[in-house]
Amino acid sequence: MADHSGAVTSASRRERGVKFWRVTRRVCQLAATIDISFFFLFLFLGSPILAWINVASVAMYTAAYYAINRRQNRLAIALIWSEVIIHSALGTLMIGWESGFHYYLLMFIPTVCISSVRPGTIISLIVVLWGYYIGLDILMWFMEPFQPIPSGALLGVHLFNLSVVFAMFAYLSFFYMRMVVSAQRKLQRLATVDSLTGLLNRRHGSDLAENEIARFRRVGHPVAFMLLDVDHFKSFNDQFGHGTGDAILTEIGRLIPAQLRVQDIAARWGGEEFLVILPDTKIESALASAERIRVALRSNDWKQATGESIDVTISVGVSEVCANDDLASVISRADRALYRGKAGGRNRVEQEGELQR
Ligand code: GH3
Ligand code: MG
Ligand code: MG
Repeated sequence: MADHSGAVTSASRRERGVKFWRVTRRVCQLAATIDISFFFLFLFLGSPILAWINVASVAMYTAAYYAINRRQNRLAIALIWSEVIIHSALGTLMIGWESGFHYYLLMFIPTVCISSVRPGTIISLIVVLWGYYIGLDILMWFMEPFQPIPSGALLGVHLFNLSVVFAMFAYLSFFYMRMVVSAQRKLQRLATVDSLTGLLNRRHGSDLAENEIARFRRVGHPVAFMLLDVDHFKSFNDQFGHGTGDAILTEIGRLIPAQLRVQDIAARWGGEEFLVILPDTKIESALASAERIRVALRSNDWKQATGESIDVTISVGVSEVCANDDLASVISRADRALYRGKAGGRNRVEQEGELQR
């Protein structure tokens, strides 16, 4: 059975990376915009040094933005880190601890923790950050700011910085949550779906089959099973190559569900074998469904699906769950019927027990 899980995993990792850098680029734009407004604010408040620091910050965020565009991701991260570390320290030294510029340093805690560096590196970075933050805090206990601003303006800067950090934390948490939920969905899909045919895989198919048998025991609703096996499949592989064989299986993964009701469950049971579970279905209706599938395969345009002029047929064995059945026994009856179909010339539907067609 072809295994595509490695390719799917690396594709989803790539997709997550693309999202991360898209968000980081947006953060650069946002931060540069905030710094432009700070430039005018500090000019207005008579703090030219702080105003020009913001010009340097805008330049760094712009450089980081273009570095991401050019896929120079390390450079972008170095620029962003340096900007936040230098800017928060200079802002604090110039107008005081109350300015709240130090809050921006706290943003590194979640950012470092969700990054893909090794746990040892994460711990070291957090410890360094903690030392830097505490050092700045202690320093400001013993020194006066270089360029204090009026207390009303200081309160304004403080509240603004606090609000921006609040918003950034909320955005980051929201982004992280969305990433986790989407990764969970992908993992669940990988664990339950067969990547070649798009049908359920054997493990999930048998879990659902067990559930249906349990439901039959509880409420007595009929449940039918179909085992389907492609006829002479090996010869397609031998004659046209494995790629054509795969294309046939993919097409069957499309054709089978198209003939079923929404509540029916189709799974890839093995290489070129499929299991269909039909809840609330007596064997007569199951036979009709199986016949529809057989005809659909027989009359399909295989040239369009595979590029080869071939005729693909399928044999089907059908059984119905009865008292004292378990999954193995009901499938084994469908398998015996299938075997009879093969022995009887293939391209046919057989019912457990007696000959149907
Ligand atoms: P029969 O009519 O008796 O069922 O004959 P058959 O040739 O279909 O049966 P057999 O069991 O001899 O061959 C099944 C073949 O299916 C052998 C195997 O190489 C092929 N196969 C299994 N999984 C895959 C797959 O994922 N892709 C492809 N291309 N072939 C597969
Ligand atoms: Mg076969
Ligand atoms: Mg087989």
